[in-house]
Amino acid sequence: MTTLYEGAFAKLNLTLDVLGKRDDGYHDLKSVMQTVSIRDDIEIDIGTGKPWCLKCDKEGIPTDERNLAWKAAKVYCDVMGKNPDGIEIRITKRIPSEAGMGGGSADAAAVLRALNRHYGDPLSIMALAELGAQIGSDVPFCVVCGTCMCEGRGEQLRRLPDMPDCIIVVCKPEFSVSTPELYRKIDEVAIANRPDHQAMESALLAGDLEKVAHNLCNVFDPVVTSDHLELNYIKSLFHQYGAVGYQMTGSGSACFAIVSEFEVAAVICNMLKANYPNVYICKPV
Ligand code: ATP
Repeated sequence: MTTLYEGAFAKLNLTLDVLGKRDDGYHDLKSVMQTVSIRDDIEIDIGTGKPWCLKCDKEGIPTDERNLAWKAAKVYCDVMGKNPDGIEIRITKRIPSEAGMGGGSADAAAVLRALNRHYGDPLSIMALAELGAQIGSDVPFCVVCGTCMCEGRGEQLRRLPDMPDCIIVVCKPEFSVSTPELYRKIDEVAIANRPDHQAMESALLAGDLEKVAHNLCNVFDPVVTSDHLELNYIKSLFHQYGAVGYQMTGSGSACFAIVSEFEVAAVICNMLKANYPNVYICKPV
């Protein structure tokens, strides 16, 4: 039996635009995504000689074939024609669930990377990302990591220059957002403010953190905030204590702030901790 270890990194959306509804019912998206240092740990035993099983230290996460990490192992073995003779996956969960931080997708991507490495890297990272699209729309990016422009349903990826070094504070409020409901709402509203992707790309190319922060834009942010005014409270704290930029990530409900100094992050974190148990300080990775 062999044990594989792999980190699964959370993502944040620096930009997120919904370009329209496709004939197949999905939406075309355009998003600059960034991995951050909040991570789940994945361990995989290969060759257990027993039926497949999955364990997770956090309650409420499925531990059967519905888990995206399990799905990823199944897809990899089926497509690559591998018979691992029994797999046990163990997940140590730190990425908050239903946050818009791609927790399940990150776990799936980590499983794909680990299995591909185990079998001698038969797939390039981009081919592995393409395989990830069969599991979920955020999986291709979570395979590649770093800073990327993601388009279509998330399967079209282009690497961008690394996000400038900074500190990021993430706050996950208690409430969750129904993603299908959110897409229904976005189809009904006129989107007033869309990301300027050219400006974001130039900011990344120049390594200009302030410009990156000023070009944060997520079309879902105002839609979710109008239903959950506590996001305004979180954002007002970010603003008051000197964050350079802030917004909700993905379909929510986590919000993040970009700050240039650790001391500022620590103050924001302490203020938020009074009301929110799930506050994190992290960095782009
Ligand atoms: P996204 O940003 O991709 O929308 P999210 O943060 O909204 O992700 P996740 O935390 O990835 O959402 O999980 C959403 C649901 O997916 C969970 O409620 C859970 O039932 C299911 N799920 C399946 N596999 C996993 C996994 N490995 N980790 C967490 N959740 C998983």
